[in-house]
Amino acid sequence: MDKRVKILGVQVDAVTMAQAVERVESLIAAGEPSMVATANAEMLLNATHDDELKRILNAASLVVPDGAGTVWAARHLGKSMPERVAGFDLVQELMKVAPSKGWRFFLFGAAPGIADKAKAKAEVLYPGIQIAGTRNGYFKPADEPDIIAQIKASRADILLAALGVPKQEKWLAKYKDELNIPVSIGVGGTFDVMAGVVKRAPLWMQRARLEWLFRAMLQPSRAGRLLALPKFVLKVHKQKTEPNS
Ligand code: UDP
Repeated sequence: MDKRVKILGVQVDAVTMAQAVERVESLIAAGEPSMVATANAEMLLNATHDDELKRILNAASLVVPDGAGTVWAARHLGKSMPERVAGFDLVQELMKVAPSKGWRFFLFGAAPGIADKAKAKAEVLYPGIQIAGTRNGYFKPADEPDIIAQIKASRADILLAALGVPKQEKWLAKYKDELNIPVSIGVGGTFDVMAGVVKRAPLWMQRARLEWLFRAMLQPSRAGRLLALPKFVLKVHKQKTEPNS
């Protein structure tokens, strides 16, 4: 078992990308329905005022440090956090090894057509990959029985859910046992990026830890969400200086 670092009340696993992939592999081998979460600063901040989200994250089998903010927070609290494990990158690493392991994916979420585009892209990038089904992420409660039946019937090993935070985490927590898929992961905007609808920041910006700035520039509607970052920094600093408050 690797170390976990408590950041604003959420236990985040101190894992490298390679260790995260290994953990997913053993969760698939174990076969029991499990959840993997990708915790960025915004999600951790949300969890401070959303007890259900906090409970779900703390019950997850693996919570990876998604984003520069999460890695910074752990280190600021004096704990080691080996590297950033972005949700998008984790999905790519899993898809890379999937053909040799025989893992099957189900892509659930994003606007109509996007998951199919992400599937097509994955089939080009990772020859031999098995994407057992797709379903868009815009639905009414009345549609849920059909969606659940479709996901179950796919007999996928990994369910990727891209409904945004915290909808995807809550949906997965509610239905994961019924779905009976070994590993479910909430992956946010991953299908949009794979489909080419939303661009990933250039490498130099990722390396300079400026991916958040790039996303805000590209999607001005997200700019308000930038406020989460200074709030997150202040809260983490408070946790460090007043650990019992
Ligand atoms: N989405 C969805 N159903 C919804 C709301 C959102 O499928 O009811 C999708 C949306 O189309 C997008 C993803 O969820 O593909 C959320 O992306 P975002 O980058 O906002 O993720 P977050 O930052 O919340 O993880």
